[in-house]
Amino acid sequence: MGDEETKKAQCPFCGGDRFEEERIEYLYSYEGKYLLVPNTPVTLCLDCGMIYYDGAVLEEIERRFFAIYQNAEEPDSYIRLPTTVYA
Ligand SMILES: [Zn+2]
Repeated sequence: MGDEETKKAQCPFCGGDRFEEERIEYLYSYEGKYLLVPNTPVTLCLDCGMIYYDGAVLEEIERRFFAIYQNAEEPDSYIRLPTTVYA
């Protein structure tokens, strides 16, 4: 869309400009509740190893967290826990 592509990202921590896309397990925590999100895309600074999360990704994780959390509060849907069937 715009022609102002900010391709020259700089690591605010070390000033490096070499980054790599990685996928990690991100542990989201909120008021003592946790949600482990595998395959979370992050950007890794190759110079200092700092990990940066994309704002949209974090929003999505938050959204999912609250969706799950709210479902957990709904006894009707949660009471029917499937008995573990590992045949
Ligand atoms: Zn860095």
